[in-house]
Amino acid sequence: MSKRGRANLATTLNKEEQLKIDKDGLDVLADIHRYAQEGFAAIDPGDFIRFKWYGIYQQKPKTDPYFMMRVKIPGGMLNYEQAVTVAQLANDFGRGLADVTTRQAIQYHWLQIEHMPEIFDRLAKVGMSPIQACGDVVRNVISSPVAGLDAQELFDVRDLVLQVEQLFLSNKEFSNLPRKFKISIAADPRDLGHPEINDLALVPALLGDEAGYHVLVGGGLSAKPFLAKNLGIFLRQEEALDVIKAVVTIFRDHGYREKRSHARVKFLMADWGPEKFLEHVEAVTGKTYTRGGVRQTTEWNGAYLYGVHPQKQAGLNFVGLSLPVGRISGDILLELARLAKKYGNGDLRTTNTQNIIIPNVADENVEALLAEPLLQTFTAKPNTFIGHAVSCTGNEFCNLALVETKERMKSIANYLDETFPNFDTPIRLHVNGCPNSCGQQQIADIGLAGALVRIDGKMQDAFDISIGGGLGADAKFNRKVVLKVKGDEVQFAIEAIVRYYEQNREAGESFRS
Ligand code: SF4
Repeated sequence: MSKRGRANLATTLNKEEQLKIDKDGLDVLADIHRYAQEGFAAIDPGDFIRFKWYGIYQQKPKTDPYFMMRVKIPGGMLNYEQAVTVAQLANDFGRGLADVTTRQAIQYHWLQIEHMPEIFDRLAKVGMSPIQACGDVVRNVISSPVAGLDAQELFDVRDLVLQVEQLFLSNKEFSNLPRKFKISIAADPRDLGHPEINDLALVPALLGDEAGYHVLVGGGLSAKPFLAKNLGIFLRQEEALDVIKAVVTIFRDHGYREKRSHARVKFLMADWGPEKFLEHVEAVTGKTYTRGGVRQTTEWNGAYLYGVHPQKQAGLNFVGLSLPVGRISGDILLELARLAKKYGNGDLRTTNTQNIIIPNVADENVEALLAEPLLQTFTAKPNTFIGHAVSCTGNEFCNLALVETKERMKSIANYLDETFPNFDTPIRLHVNGCPNSCGQQQIADIGLAGALVRIDGKMQDAFDISIGGGLGADAKFNRKVVLKVKGDEVQFAIEAIVRYYEQNREAGESFRS
């Protein structure tokens, strides 16, 4: 048995813990290559779980030989060659689908085991990988999608994001955590990295004139959502990597491993509190950190960045475009890459709202970019509701899903845009297809959680509706107001909620309040 995680192993281990002891998730790579030769029928059932360490999930139904795969994009930063490769792989192996996820990653569907070695090789050639996009490891590190570009950020975090990615990538010291571990690093005062719902988040802070971080630990969604707690220290930029490593080490060695549903670091934080957690951080690093500093937070905008925005680099702009519910095709991504090269420097940024940004567009190129045919569909000025709609994968591909989500959300949002044309306040709609929270419904203005209802003896899609969630200074999760609304009636229930808000709000009253 590995020393890693020994300190907190309980006498009764859950099934996944035993699997990880039997064979580390990272060690399944040789088997993936073997299965690629031998075929789907040869796959050991335990290895299906270990495949997650390489970003691979079984697609629904599990009896079919198809897989989903997530490809990491740290900080959402894609260059031209990477975007082209990601798009071509979608076309060559994934029936053209390429979904943008709420962690700035790309998700493929319809992959077959025979194709995995070639997919890994072609990603590696452009410096990309699905390694640790899933599994009990540090996942894709997210950031402000305009890190290094945005005039409002206190400083540029891109180097740290990439250092953190490298620190944990294929690192067997950290390949057996109690559960997944999600990190957000951003120095933007609008909290574009959704800090409070991450296991660990660095957010901008000032100590006098010095710019550094506050450290938040223990956030997460799923069935029991928690907001991350502030450790109360001012972290200097040069101290950040050590503290991140220490927090992950503490989670590895002290996180709970008895029940999967109780294993995220949020439960450890709930039991310890931030003071005890900080004591452990300082014990691991052997340093004492400066207390205090002032967190730099302005109004949270939901991390939506549509339209044309001047960058901190004079004469350049980033242009935020809408990809409704994150669903695009390889061909659309190829065209986005072509436009990014023609009008910018070839870079793209994926966002945690499932959208995309073309950065580094010179002032004189903005109008021509906005006039491109693709931008008449994937627009910089979307309608209010479809432009603020987020969806998880749902039962089209996900084995855990109770209901269909992406098409449902598109049709709800389009209905609301027709019903309330030119609505003056963005209302963020999120949907999850099950009690997990890939669609982050708890932070939505109006959140939908998939459920099933029995009607005339038949199970039918339904949704619990919650309202009033959001992050930022007054972060809070939304609260359930209506239960089990039938799927084909949910748009009318939301219409009634929006109409009530429209007719009863006071001047300047936001939907959340
Ligand atoms: Fe699947 Fe549930 Fe996640 Fe949706 S929220 S992708 S249904 S696990």
